[in-house]
Amino acid sequence: MAPRLAESPVPCPVCKGFGLLESEDGRKLLPCRCREGVERDARRQAVRIPERYRNCTLTNYRPQEPSQERAKAAARRFVADYPAVDLGLLFVGPVGVGKTHLAAAVLAELVDTLGVRSVFCDFTDLLSRIQATFSRSSEESEDDVLHIYRESDLLVLDELGARRPTDWARDVLYGLLNTRYNRKRLTILTTNYGDTPEKPGGETLEQRVGVPVRSRLAEMCRLVEIGGKDFRREARLGERLS
Ligand code: ADP
Repeated sequence: MAPRLAESPVPCPVCKGFGLLESEDGRKLLPCRCREGVERDARRQAVRIPERYRNCTLTNYRPQEPSQERAKAAARRFVADYPAVDLGLLFVGPVGVGKTHLAAAVLAELVDTLGVRSVFCDFTDLLSRIQATFSRSSEESEDDVLHIYRESDLLVLDELGARRPTDWARDVLYGLLNTRYNRKRLTILTTNYGDTPEKPGGETLEQRVGVPVRSRLAEMCRLVEIGGKDFRREARLGERLS
């Protein structure tokens, strides 16, 4: 008997959770369609897309205004042209307009269709993991942590500039981006900081990440500005009003 799929919380009504079905002539066992979802999810987990974004696709991104239409089109073009793409993407815009959604969707699509060696990375988590290697008891070195992010053909670096900028954090970021730039690897980034402050007295991306990183990004990425309202808040508001 085929093993029961531990990953399926609710057994599939077709294969009852066994993952395999007999072929019509009864001579073979074929994978059930429910396996596709399990395998897709496992692939997304393997490239470290956070659970919250694993079902994000370009199709289920519904633009609410022209800048979002353009951002979706840029993401689609990136996927369609890959690997004949010279520049990564730098998604800039306020919270909740779908920057991470689009970045995760591009990654997922390229992993599913072309098996691209890629990885998703939250920049704040990366810095915390590197800091953890400074402890004497750590078995990992900074290089061990950074290796996959330097080497992957496609990297999504999420929430650039979210953490309070320190010289150390800027050096880590510059080192990582510079290595990727020299090796001609593509990077997709998201950030809430643009080239002009969101509010009077606010900070720019350059102030957040430093001049060398901002200028490296200009060489590596196409700027994609997204405007609009916070999708999560709007959705919650809609729920309350309905
Ligand atoms: P950001 O990275 O810009 O802060 P997120 O990508 O985290 O925003 O989006 C917040 C949530 O709203 C996510 O669950 C995302 O899937 C959803 N979302 C945002 N914009 C859209 C959109 N236009 N269509 C569908 N879902 C969206």
